[in-house]
Amino acid sequence: MIKNKNTSIPSVLIIGAGLSGLTLAYYLEKKDISYQLLEARSRIGGRIFTNYQEGFAPLEIGATWLGKKHQALSNLLTELDLEIFEQILGDRAIYEPISTSPPQLVSLPPNNDPSYRIKGGSSFLINTLVEKIGREKISLNQVVTNISSTTNGLSVKTKTDEFQANLVVSTLPPFLLTNTIEFNPILPEAFKKITATTHTWMGESIKVGLRYTTPFWRAKNSSGTIFSSVGPIPEMYDHADAKDQYFAIKGFFNGAYFSVSKEERLEMVLTQLEKYYGPQARNFVSYEEGVWRNEPFTFTPYNQHVLPHQNNGHAIFSDTLMNGKLYIAGAETANQHPGYMEGAVRSAQRVANQIIEHHSSLVS
Ligand SMILES: Cc1cc2nc3c(=O)[nH]c(=O)nc-3n(C[C@H](O)[C@H](O)[C@H](O)COP(=O)(O)OP(=O)(O)OC[C@H]3O[C@@H](n4cnc5c(N)ncnc54)[C@H](O)[C@@H]3O)c2cc1C
Repeated sequence: MIKNKNTSIPSVLIIGAGLSGLTLAYYLEKKDISYQLLEARSRIGGRIFTNYQEGFAPLEIGATWLGKKHQALSNLLTELDLEIFEQILGDRAIYEPISTSPPQLVSLPPNNDPSYRIKGGSSFLINTLVEKIGREKISLNQVVTNISSTTNGLSVKTKTDEFQANLVVSTLPPFLLTNTIEFNPILPEAFKKITATTHTWMGESIKVGLRYTTPFWRAKNSSGTIFSSVGPIPEMYDHADAKDQYFAIKGFFNGAYFSVSKEERLEMVLTQLEKYYGPQARNFVSYEEGVWRNEPFTFTPYNQHVLPHQNNGHAIFSDTLMNGKLYIAGAETANQHPGYMEGAVRSAQRVANQIIEHHSSLVS
């Protein structure tokens, strides 16, 4: 049960403690508007998840890169005193266009639009936001199953509890929202029609990363940047930590292999890397992976073919539902850079402004 500091102030339930939910909470906290976060997983961060191992490079299993064009995210990082560092790309790459020819070493043109990573790992941003709002504001292992209208607000049922709030904000990928939560009364057909074909960015992806004690890929006739049409790793990059003290490489793995075992995927990773670097590729310290398609709180299968980014940023997400009591945030709902961390921050800003406006109209 959510308790307001003052019963005339609307209380807010935020569903999802990923970047959108936590950023929204951060803005509401600054305005002293009461809120609580409900998170289905036993961890915070959603599609941001850095794997840490003491004395080794942090491995990004989810979101990794941002660019200078990601203004809202950059401003948030500055406000939180978090730093970024440039992704190492190098001046050459291993390029494997076809299985019948050996891989080649090709020169890369100067990179005028580099990508950046967050110092300390993307989860450092998540953890910093949690520090600002207070861990007690987040209830983990709360899988929301039902949202119903009540006289004064909304009732939110989870698998174990029931919560009441004046306003509710969803930060779920829109497809997941309408395919895993029941609404009473049901949501408008026009909204459901859009969410049915709204792609969840990176929902089908597999990330793989390996830690090593030495960055052997930086040798004279080598590179940690890999582009392969043969696969199963199509892209891979140097993934050293910000101080360039601990070493790793990390990339994407063909998403079609979501149903094979971790051991089988690892063997395929090593076979491909061995082709480029020789037997030293097998001397890894640890292997980590993220198979996002197998994560029920990120992905659930579509009923029809959905294209990457389809309906991301659709205008319908800016409207409230359930008589103005349900707000729709989440990376896919932003009208700029939807699907990305930038979109998550922008969606949180939009909903924070909507709620702050609603709140001032009630107290004035
Ligand atoms: C492999 C991968 C690589 C990526 N790379 C990049 C990148 O390099 N740069 C970039 O900008 N972006 C990248 N992204 C996208 C980025 O991760 C997302 O834009 C961002 O993290 C989305 O945040 P969000 O809070 O909107 O959604 P999410 O992080 O998905 O958060 C939604 C939250 O809701 C919770 N939830 C789900 N169902 C329920 C329920 N029923 N009840 C309660 N809680 C529920 C989830 O557990 C989750 O914590 C990547 C994503 C992945 C998966």
